[in-house]
Amino acid sequence: TSAVALDNVSRRFNGVAAVDRVSLDIADGEFFSLLGPSGSGKSTCLRLIAGFERPDTGTIRLHGRDTVDLPPYRRDVNTVFQDYALFPHLSLLDNVAYGLMVKGVGRSERMNRARAMLRLVELEDVHNRKPAHLSGGQRQRVALARALVNEPRVLLLDEPLGALDLKLREQMQGELKTLQRRLGITFIFVTHDQGEALSMSDRVAVFNRGRIEQVDNPRQLYLTPRSIFVANFVGSANVIEGELARELTGENGIFAIRPEFARIHRLTRPAADELSVNGELSNILFQGAMTRYELTLARGVRFTVSETHPAGVGTPDGPALGQRLTASWPRAA
Ligand code: ADP
Repeated sequence: TSAVALDNVSRRFNGVAAVDRVSLDIADGEFFSLLGPSGSGKSTCLRLIAGFERPDTGTIRLHGRDTVDLPPYRRDVNTVFQDYALFPHLSLLDNVAYGLMVKGVGRSERMNRARAMLRLVELEDVHNRKPAHLSGGQRQRVALARALVNEPRVLLLDEPLGALDLKLREQMQGELKTLQRRLGITFIFVTHDQGEALSMSDRVAVFNRGRIEQVDNPRQLYLTPRSIFVANFVGSANVIEGELARELTGENGIFAIRPEFARIHRLTRPAADELSVNGELSNILFQGAMTRYELTLARGVRFTVSETHPAGVGTPDGPALGQRLTASWPRAA
């Protein structure tokens, strides 16, 4: 049986569906992300699983058991919130042990388990400190330890890295992933950051206006988006509506091409089996690892190409603004 199963779940606020007929099957031990823009229903979905909200329709099962009559504290689930919600007047150790005290676990066992959790997140040596004396990343780890001390089978994380700066966020992504793999707990991770979802998850559900547009592993999601929304939200894409010209006539529809799958031509020409567009170079954006070239095609359509630089060379004889250029990409892209 799956760890978490939602079947046709809806939740409305003031007549508007925040979560709209969502079905999901999350496997035991999976790192599963709910990805989508702000307001798309991710948090509501998480709160439904935690039991802080009740579905208007549909069923939610945890490890095969219907949760309709199960209050939050009886669910084998713990939540880590974005603001961490730590007690400012308690030491780290007492913060982590608090939930066990509420459950009536005896003092020495409580302290042992809390210490073990602080060791797991590498904060044992500062267990006497108060939250105010910690960095953002350390507070995040305390919040994690406090949720894990209850030994939940499912951990719900609501934008847990949202308050951290980029460097620390990337570091914590790696740490969270390692921790999850080691503990084998099911993680359900809410984020609006597509890079975060792709790099950490076994599978990702993409939310749009309360509905799930696609559930797939990160590679499939990126390489075979099934809607324009997913193509644009997960990474960036050139979305072109039209018909393929010349020997390929007859195929029409909407094409989505990743900027890094295309290349621009100065001294070269597209290969015979490639597809291409022509346009005027309207912008060159140097981004460090990549340079982004923006072409303006017929009827003002924009087409973006991202190229990496040949090792250490940069682009000494790059193209000039206003130049007419061809961009091409393999058919498979
Ligand atoms: P996300 O987590 O993707 O940002 P949310 O689940 O928080 O999205 O919200 C989805 C929609 O539901 C939003 O339009 C939000 O305003 C609405 N919503 C969420 N919770 C409530 C609530 N308690 N009362 C009224 N509207 C709510």
